[in-house]
Amino acid sequence: MSPDPSALAAAFGEAYQRAPEGVWHAPGRLNLIGEHTDYNDGFVLPFALDLGVSVAAARRDDGMLHLRSLQAADQGITVPVKGGSLDGWAAYPAGVAWLLHEHGAGGASLLIDSDLPAGAGLSSSAALECATALALCDLYGIEMDRRELALLAQRAENEHVGMPCGIMDQSASLLATDGHALMLDCRSGLTSQVPFAPADSGLTMLVVDTRATHTLTGGEYAQRRAECEEAARLLGVPALRDVKDLAAALAALADPVLRRRVQHVVTENHRVEAVVGLLRAGAVTELGSMLTASHLSLRDQFEISWPEADVAVEEALRAGARGGRMIGGGFGGSAIVLTATERVDEVRAAITGAYAARGWTPPTIFEANPAPGAHRVS
Ligand code: ADP
Ligand code: MG
Repeated sequence: MSPDPSALAAAFGEAYQRAPEGVWHAPGRLNLIGEHTDYNDGFVLPFALDLGVSVAAARRDDGMLHLRSLQAADQGITVPVKGGSLDGWAAYPAGVAWLLHEHGAGGASLLIDSDLPAGAGLSSSAALECATALALCDLYGIEMDRRELALLAQRAENEHVGMPCGIMDQSASLLATDGHALMLDCRSGLTSQVPFAPADSGLTMLVVDTRATHTLTGGEYAQRRAECEEAARLLGVPALRDVKDLAAALAALADPVLRRRVQHVVTENHRVEAVVGLLRAGAVTELGSMLTASHLSLRDQFEISWPEADVAVEEALRAGARGGRMIGGGFGGSAIVLTATERVDEVRAAITGAYAARGWTPPTIFEANPAPGAHRVS
């Protein structure tokens, strides 16, 4: 269900008056569980979505990079592949190309298309970086393993976009495989594939875009990070991941706010490990209660939930869903819900009805299916 590659190739022909040499695709991702654990050196468990960014591309011999996107309002941007600086969307693919230039990438024309909903927390930025990276590596015969490529894409976003993101999104887009979630240890960078195919157990994962925007995310996110660092410092551990005895840690902290933050991070890491255990045991149905526990912890201990997310989870549970939780940085964005496929209609109706009753903007609800990681399409 990614953008149609032949339509994209045709659009490339119109934009650049030549055929592309190929089309590459990189998926967005959904993090099943492990929220606000990444910067605490903990665990996350994303899977690749059947939605993502596709790139049609061809080499150029003039050392220039031509970038266009079917989702961008502008007519495209031309910059030298040897380096530079840019604002706006083109900084993501250009940043990748500039870093790959050091490994042998030359000029190229790119046309980008995407079917990822914008700003729903499904990581369109990493999908854009990873599709670009794969295209340039293939076109210029650059051999780089996918872990290294994920690090390069992350560096592009850190250095050329100025976004201090972690490694989860790029890892998920490049390393996830079909029918699996990717367990990522954010300290070591080690990953393992964990079977995850909800449809095989008669289950459906829904994404509820709550349509509430992240008005507070900037400041609140930085504040949560600072609180976690402060708690780790007071506890004398390198990161909250290293807290082994939760009760002792809570007893050692005088500040109730820091106690709540620690409670979330430590239990959330355990929930990731518990979910991995359940999935390896083939008990997909049971992970619903872990999702709900994660939501309650994010709501009550980490204090980053928002009313539309709380209502989505509560109404889903009332309609018989197995579980659900808010995802992302907090204060806006999406929630996920795991439900028996036969209950999807009731769950959707319950959430939509509850929003209507409150006079809120109707939510956008869609199915999230695990899909393969980034690959060449044609
Ligand atoms: P997320 O990664 O959660 O979707 P980000 O803010 O990290 O949100 O990245 C979104 C940005 O990525 C957009 O504002 C835009 O600059 C860029 N982007 C994503 N998809 C496209 C696309 N198809 N065309 C152009 N730019 C895109
Ligand atoms: Mg992003």
